Amino acid sequence: MISKELLKSCKLCPRKCGAERFAGKLGFCRAGAEIKIARADLHMWEEPPISGTNGSGTVFFSGCNLQCCFCQNHVISAEGKGFVLTAKELADTFLMLQDRGAHNINLVTAATYVPQIIEALDIAGDKLNIPIVYNSGGYENIETLEMLRGYVDIFLPDLKYYSGELSSDYSGASDYFGCASRSLIKMHELVGSPKFDENGIMKRGVIVRHLVLPSCRHDSAKIIGWLADNFTPNEILISLMSQYTPMYKAKDIEALSRRTSTFEYEYVCRLVEGCGFDGFFQQRSAAEDKYVPEFFDKKYY
Ligand code: SF4
Repeated sequence: MISKELLKSCKLCPRKCGAERFAGKLGFCRAGAEIKIARADLHMWEEPPISGTNGSGTVFFSGCNLQCCFCQNHVISAEGKGFVLTAKELADTFLMLQDRGAHNINLVTAATYVPQIIEALDIAGDKLNIPIVYNSGGYENIETLEMLRGYVDIFLPDLKYYSGELSSDYSGASDYFGCASRSLIKMHELVGSPKFDENGIMKRGVIVRHLVLPSCRHDSAKIIGWLADNFTPNEILISLMSQYTPMYKAKDIEALSRRTSTFEYEYVCRLVEGCGFDGFFQQRSAAEDKYVPEFFDKKYY
């Protein structure tokens, strides 16, 4: 059983909102005490060493501690779509994905369920023998990440904003960069530098994702500069994403109401290359709705 103390007055993430999740209350993140997911399937749209040839075994958790105004998955992050699983059912879900050939188990937006996920991973035990990927918006507590030591093999965090003004306006988190940058250093401490198998499938390490937003290339430059000041090129990989499209509340925000231009995206690509980082650059054609998977409110597998 997970410690009810952790969710009694929840402080799992930097919001520290104190929601009494075991008393039936939802946190800022919209998560309660029960595990809620909206999809578990093989997914081909992650970075090549994560998706590989068979796909990544993604589990999309409902709720999110950031609530970004441009979230493409807002039906699950903000609107609560999903279905409830016990820890045993979540463990069985991981094993089902492994049986289907997944290269890894990819926990998408899992920060608000870390104690329950650890319980499920303990239930699965040695039967689950593929890497565990922790796919995060980057807004994490160091203490919560420490709980994942020995459970997670690959961290896939976003580093979204440098400016507190941007992170406040777009994600309601003025302390985002301080939390996310400290978390990133902790993630690297937990899993080390990237390692791959003989087929190029990632086994350990950190891939930092950055989505280039419209009108924000100078903020992106500060992020790349911080990464270059704090990591050598062989310590992390960078995934630079161009897929931004105005969705959800962003359609009504002038600065976010257009796609990122080719000039803006390539400006940031050149900075990444200039710093010597290895990683992944996304095709501009990826900026379409096809990257939003179908979500479910009833268990379907
Ligand atoms: S995980 Fe959710 S409930 Fe817990 S502190 Fe963060 S926002 Fe609040």
